[in-house]
Amino acid sequence: MIDFAKRYLQALGSPDGGALFDLHAAEAPLLIDGKMVARGVADRDAFVASHQAALAGLRAGQSGFPDRGEPTLDSWDPAGVLRFSVPDPQRDAPARVAMGLVQEAGEWRIGWVTIADGPPRDYAWGRAAALGDFPFLPSQQVSRSRDWLDLAYRRRYRLGRPTLHFLPGANFGCHATSSCCRERYEISVPPEAQAFLDALPWEGEEAHLRGVQLASKADGNLMLKAPGEVCRFLDGKGHCRIHARLGTPVFAPCVKYPVQFVEVPDGVAVSLNFRCGSACEGFGPPLEEQADELYNRLALGGMSGMPDALLLAHDRATDWDGLAAAEQDLLTALQGPGEIWRRLWVGLRALEARVAGEIPDLARYAVEALPPLPDPADTREELQVLLGHISLASPELAHIEHVYPRAHPLMAQERVAQFLANFIHSKYLTYILDLSTAANTAVLLYALVLALETATGPEGPQANTWIAKGALPSPLVLGPTLLGVISANPARLAELGTPALGLGFLRALAT
Ligand code: SF4
Repeated sequence: MIDFAKRYLQALGSPDGGALFDLHAAEAPLLIDGKMVARGVADRDAFVASHQAALAGLRAGQSGFPDRGEPTLDSWDPAGVLRFSVPDPQRDAPARVAMGLVQEAGEWRIGWVTIADGPPRDYAWGRAAALGDFPFLPSQQVSRSRDWLDLAYRRRYRLGRPTLHFLPGANFGCHATSSCCRERYEISVPPEAQAFLDALPWEGEEAHLRGVQLASKADGNLMLKAPGEVCRFLDGKGHCRIHARLGTPVFAPCVKYPVQFVEVPDGVAVSLNFRCGSACEGFGPPLEEQADELYNRLALGGMSGMPDALLLAHDRATDWDGLAAAEQDLLTALQGPGEIWRRLWVGLRALEARVAGEIPDLARYAVEALPPLPDPADTREELQVLLGHISLASPELAHIEHVYPRAHPLMAQERVAQFLANFIHSKYLTYILDLSTAANTAVLLYALVLALETATGPEGPQANTWIAKGALPSPLVLGPTLLGVISANPARLAELGTPALGLGFLRALAT
């Protein structure tokens, strides 16, 4: 069967895409202009044109499967699964291929092909594993693929090893609680995921999962799991059935959680979702000691890209250097000494200076007296109204809406500081809106921690426990909630992107 592998590799690298088309079986999924089409109904000319465009992309420097090497046989299962390896000059290990073959008119034809990165699988599970790469396709539209193998190869190896930027003190180790598969937030997946689910050959006590159809969302994506729902693929022992069967989670949120990746000009910023109890508590080794695992998550799960415009405030554009310097001021302040409110004060004062085009003086802000608020009652009321709206987004917060928070020594000071720094470092709101909105949201998160501690008393739950329980709305929830509350009034929306708003709230909390 190694001759078949050689014919396949020749066809993969040939400008005549017709040979590659003819090697596939009628049931084989093909990629034509980034869309999946079964070979039996595909247009041959369209496939050839798509193949040639993909080859042009490879010549222009895009990564693709190394088709030039001499293949060596790893195994051949006459039931239709061929495994072979090819030298990979782009990496220091051979590229391993798994290929499903079926007989058509007395000839072997390809039913599916993928990178062999797990244990040997039979034809049906191998096909499902191959289709498991399809939900990844929309995240790399710029790269055309000649065949499924390019897609599978890129998903695992395309990004190489960009520089990862970590927050000091960021630790994580999974404790397999599977709470991430049960939590009350939703997980959505791209519509292409349905083809993968359709291919899963569940049997026996898992047969009820055959033919699962995910509900469509208004944005065109599919709902893997609704808020509050336990994922249907979680078994009774808290293990993911897809992970168990394929040796890896498939959907990007499942691959990455609780790690978050965002693009920056010189690499990738790595942050954590503190809704994960292990991440919140700082369990596990430092992230910087887990580079191999993180590169794997990044390759399989992808990252969020940079926005077209970077803003220090709602009306103050900047370049990357300007944004990075202002963000670093906030992080330096949050990781410095003193109470949290003072750290936030220092960071927001520095941001205010940078928005005004001035050089910040963090040492001075750390000791300066707070100027009196011209309208303390109004500011407190505004803060209270905002916190009330936010509490509606989190049932655990409902009981605190009448408690006015005041700054006091926090029980879990350093965990809260890390939580806020992680939020800033994630760039979530910074990239969607601006750095000032992100910083002001950090002030609101701090106010929520104060309210929780005030409401529960010194014997009550620690603030980090509240974070882990999700009582503090995830910034992913809080951002849209705030926007929903404030966007009804454009003037208020502008205030949210101004350091003065957060500084006013801090003065109200601290005095
Ligand atoms: S698919 Fe698996 S990992 Fe993803 S949410 Fe469901 S059970 Fe969890």
